[in-house]
Amino acid sequence: MDRRTFNLGLGAAIAAAPVVRQASAREYTGPNVILIRFGGGVRRAETIDEAATYAPYLRHVLAGRGLFIPDMRIAQLDGVNTSHAEGTLNLLTGRYLAYRDAGSKFLQDRLEPTEPTLFEYLRDAFDIPSHQALLVNGEDRPQEEFFTYGVNEHYGIAYRSEMLSLHRFKLYKFARIVEEGRADEATLADAQKQYDALIAADPRTITPDQSPEVTAFWEDWRAHYGDDGLRNPRGDRLLTALATRALHQLRPRLMMVNYQDPDYVHWGNASHYTRAIQIIDDGLQRLVETVDADPFYRGNTVFVITPDCGRDENPLMDVPFQHHFNSRAAHETWAVVFGSGIERGRTLDRSVDQSAIAPTVAAIMGFQASRAEGNVLTEVFA
Ligand SMILES: [Zn+2]
Repeated sequence: MDRRTFNLGLGAAIAAAPVVRQASAREYTGPNVILIRFGGGVRRAETIDEAATYAPYLRHVLAGRGLFIPDMRIAQLDGVNTSHAEGTLNLLTGRYLAYRDAGSKFLQDRLEPTEPTLFEYLRDAFDIPSHQALLVNGEDRPQEEFFTYGVNEHYGIAYRSEMLSLHRFKLYKFARIVEEGRADEATLADAQKQYDALIAADPRTITPDQSPEVTAFWEDWRAHYGDDGLRNPRGDRLLTALATRALHQLRPRLMMVNYQDPDYVHWGNASHYTRAIQIIDDGLQRLVETVDADPFYRGNTVFVITPDCGRDENPLMDVPFQHHFNSRAAHETWAVVFGSGIERGRTLDRSVDQSAIAPTVAAIMGFQASRAEGNVLTEVFA
């Protein structure tokens, strides 16, 4: 079965969802929102502890620019796993357990949302093209390609966001190499093989295909970095590069950046974890400086920075820094919200549930996340 046939089958399976998006009359004028998943699971100790932080720009500069929420929590509910995909979907839907196992033999931890995501609500409320509702993902987590829209009766694929990731770029690149037919025979055969492998790993390839604007983005990326994969940044630095380029070229209104590398600590080396936090902190600085220097975004943009989940803090465990054992610290996160119209220089002295993020982003942007269960965090507004 080729990709097109597969997608047609998938289309039938989700026939309850409206396939054609209704044009909305409402033009969007802002504020723009950049939602940063300070992800891969981080503890408060290494991120927001004033003395111990490995993210000094976050803690000493950004926290003071807005509303600092040192006590955000993932609810203690049956079946809630404190992990990356789960936490990300809590952030995007404003609910817990609003996902299902998409059941792939190729991918583990492959969850897809069963409730609308922020992208869908936004594109329903306003006339915003898909390339201005962006999800920027890491290179080795194709399972997160499934977050762009929920499987639900109200919205679905016609309201999806676009995805920027190395996985997406490789799909573009190998298809182009085959299509151009200029390479030698071995290169062509390899490109076809790689393309087929990527398609097999991610059978829910977006239908319709990525938009012409995103295709132009990849064309430009390829011209800049070439085909060999050795010149573009890797890991979370790649996400920063994708996100800053996207700000210039695609002008997103809502963009979520899914940093992830602190998770390498699963392999046991604590310095991988603290180094990854520093790299995200550098990325934050570059994104904020990019926004501050751009008249399109300056004074009309809000940043929301928050982790997907915490991590254990029991130093007696064989492998410290895990997050799958439902410990208290794995439920403890935080958030920093700053920008246009947002309260400045205030530290919130109460605890806030993680499900508040989605409805609060919705309120900032002027729409309702009607299926979210969390409350709007009214203290963010100046
Ligand atoms: Zn993990």
